[in-house]
Amino acid sequence: MKAIRRFSVRPVLPEPLRPLHELAHNLRWSWHPETRELLRSVDPQGWQAGGEDPVRLLGTVRADRLAALAADRGFLRRLEVAVGDLRDYLTEPRWYQQADSRAGGELPRAIAYFSPEFGITATLPQYSGGLGILAGDHLKAASDLGAPMIGVGLLYRYGYFRQTLSPDGWQQEHYPVVDPHELPLTPLTEPDGSPARVTLALPGGRTLAARIWQAQVGRVPLILLDSAVAENGPAERDVTDRLYGGGSEHRLVQEMLLGIGGVRAVRAFCRLTGHPEPEVFHMNEGHAGFLGPERIRELAAYGIGFDSALWAVRAGTVFTTHTPVPDGIDRFSEELVARHFGEGGELAALDSRRLLALGREPEGVTVSGEGPPQFNMAVLGLRTAQRANGVSALHGRVSRGMFAGLWPGFDPEETPIGAVTNGVHAPTWTADAVQRQWTGSLTDAELWELRRTLREQLVHEVRARLRASWRQRGAGHAELGWVDDVLDPDVLTLGFARRVPSYKRLTLMLKDPKRLRALLLHPQRPLQIVVAGKAHPADEGGKRLIQELVRFADDPAVRHRIVFLPDYGMAMARCLYAGCDVWLNNPLRPLEACGTSGMKAALNGCLNLSVRDGWWDEWFDPDFGWEIPTADGQAAAEPERRDAIEAAALYTLLEQQVAPCFYDRGAWNHGGASGLPGRWLEMVRATLDRLGPKLRADRMLREYITGYYAPAAGAHRALTAEAAEELSGFADRVRREWPRVAVDHVEAATEPPTLGGSVPLRVRVALGDLPPSAVEVQAVTGRVDGDDTLAEPVYVPLKPNGGPDLSGRWTYEGELTLHRPGPFGYTVRVLPAHPLLSARAELGLLALPPEAPADQAAAR
Ligand SMILES: *Cc1c(COP(=O)(O)O)cnc(C)c1O
Repeated sequence: MKAIRRFSVRPVLPEPLRPLHELAHNLRWSWHPETRELLRSVDPQGWQAGGEDPVRLLGTVRADRLAALAADRGFLRRLEVAVGDLRDYLTEPRWYQQADSRAGGELPRAIAYFSPEFGITATLPQYSGGLGILAGDHLKAASDLGAPMIGVGLLYRYGYFRQTLSPDGWQQEHYPVVDPHELPLTPLTEPDGSPARVTLALPGGRTLAARIWQAQVGRVPLILLDSAVAENGPAERDVTDRLYGGGSEHRLVQEMLLGIGGVRAVRAFCRLTGHPEPEVFHMNEGHAGFLGPERIRELAAYGIGFDSALWAVRAGTVFTTHTPVPDGIDRFSEELVARHFGEGGELAALDSRRLLALGREPEGVTVSGEGPPQFNMAVLGLRTAQRANGVSALHGRVSRGMFAGLWPGFDPEETPIGAVTNGVHAPTWTADAVQRQWTGSLTDAELWELRRTLREQLVHEVRARLRASWRQRGAGHAELGWVDDVLDPDVLTLGFARRVPSYKRLTLMLKDPKRLRALLLHPQRPLQIVVAGKAHPADEGGKRLIQELVRFADDPAVRHRIVFLPDYGMAMARCLYAGCDVWLNNPLRPLEACGTSGMKAALNGCLNLSVRDGWWDEWFDPDFGWEIPTADGQAAAEPERRDAIEAAALYTLLEQQVAPCFYDRGAWNHGGASGLPGRWLEMVRATLDRLGPKLRADRMLREYITGYYAPAAGAHRALTAEAAEELSGFADRVRREWPRVAVDHVEAATEPPTLGGSVPLRVRVALGDLPPSAVEVQAVTGRVDGDDTLAEPVYVPLKPNGGPDLSGRWTYEGELTLHRPGPFGYTVRVLPAHPLLSARAELGLLALPPEAPADQAAAR
């Protein structure tokens, strides 16, 4: 029988145990081993059975156990220490406070961080993969550094799906309901005790209401909007049903709730708690793009016009793009968006044509994918944020090319998109044993023993999960004796776990099944592989790949050496990263924007074996692992051939380098064979010591704070209503006059210059009615190739000399210094200049000489 309703009985803790509630409701327990240990000791069996979930634990622990603990002085002392430690952590000044006082108060008073998903712990299942887990790590690092961040997201009633397998290996999806009352959440309430609400207007006179839940991530509040409230109609109640589910309209309304509702929720949160208002808004990918238009609307209510408001909003907004894969970017038909905005919809105070134009894909933007231009959430993000970035150096470059069409006339390198390489939260992702034991002074034998212990724990975890999966697939206990012999704690262990979009190539390792089998069953140097991953529910192709892998792994000849574990999630991931020796990553370069699983593995001393994509392109070093070469030339354009070449390279690496290195136990030591793989351990040490520190989320967050948040806060403060109006007027005037701006004449010495010498330059430019202060005239110099393209350009500002001549043209002068021999070229250009613009390409305006590309001179 099924219940028609559910509710949970709130536990009443005896007075001396009240602080347990505080510990369980601050998610810091999830990255603080001492707190976790204390919570576990409340009821070790219940902790295990309840999925290591403190809120559930306190809801199920028996009254007599609580009474016993309330009288246990040893326990109470430990409890007091743990709570005292948490309170210190929450209140003491940390890195941010010191950095802010050094910077004279320049850092933002608060930052709102918007994301469609947050992976904080397995017990708050509100994530699907890398984007959400990164968001969780971002908040945790903000907490550790003391950054005043507010996380903003949606609370999905069914989260993301749970995965099981059918008997023939087909992915099955399940959506267990998530009851907010059983999660570490508290409702945000008005002073009269009623729940705080936000509302949105939907077409047809409907209203979407949502309540606001708060999770506490260390020092950082995370507010989550939930549309499952009684006053909503059934359709509106379902807006926050699932992560990435439903059709276009469903997604659009979800994103309206996240962006527009999210800003309203932040305002309510600050009003009700006294938290400072955010000076910076950060969008983690485009899904929250409507936060920009909502803030334009807020300013419109103060009588600020659309353009001035857009400048003001842009100043304090940061946008991070996360993928070059078109499927990862939300696009909506303009008709659908138009129906939801303007009269009879949301943001009725704004001109809906202007709003539509903000998201419209310009010609030549390659994210567009197929069909006519659409309303593109990444494009909206880029147009409403003055600062933007990709998530690795390579991905920054790829994004600059991909979005160059938004700044026509500029070279892709000048696209104002920077890069901050992702990082991962070390306390979350480093196994407790590694945190406790790893110091550079461990001997090789101790380090090897530590790695073996972690591998052995993984082996046990795999067997338990595999048995459960087979039971679920219909096998009886008696048939499963073989599971006790699956994997071997002394065999080289590879991990491959991630979502299953096609570019990640889950089945590349199956390209030549015979060769893979030989690797797995090698008599002296065998390999074992643990694979996991979920395919998007609508992705039949992805499910076929999973099935292919499962069928291979079901074969009795290899099933002790390769397993597919269903239901990849944070809890399983932690165990995998720690227990594997090698983390395999073989995406189609350059589609893996960063990839973070290999970073988490590395923090545990796991070596990487990866295509040079994402972060590995930046930090690859033969001491940290191996690079899988990428097919180039003609083969790169033929998917079958390319995969065959890259798979063959992978097998060869495993056969000739990885396995021999792991099994080489010949290192001599104290007069005898140590039995240890010397080179391997050297690589483990290098990975932990030299690579680990770069991979941490606190490094990433400091880069965001100094490179993005602080300048954004500065720009936000500078853009008062008057300044925004002035800047908007400036932009208007410049756009109006620009057709009359021209480089008319360039004069330079005709003698070929010599190395170390300089070329004097004099140019005449027409500026229409603009004063010289409104522009910058630059020489652009650099090496040139056969078709006169300037490589590695350097920008040299030229100075005005005197007033305009009779025809109204201005003279500019300067000198080019020649540091390098060989073919060299230059050109001259005029750009708008204003102290509140952050990038040269920002207004998308540029004037070049009519004869561009420029005259050249060869320097010898
Ligand atoms: C880190 C992580 C991811 C993302 O891994 P990628 O390497 O970016 O694909 C996905 N799921 C879980 C559970 C993770 O921990």
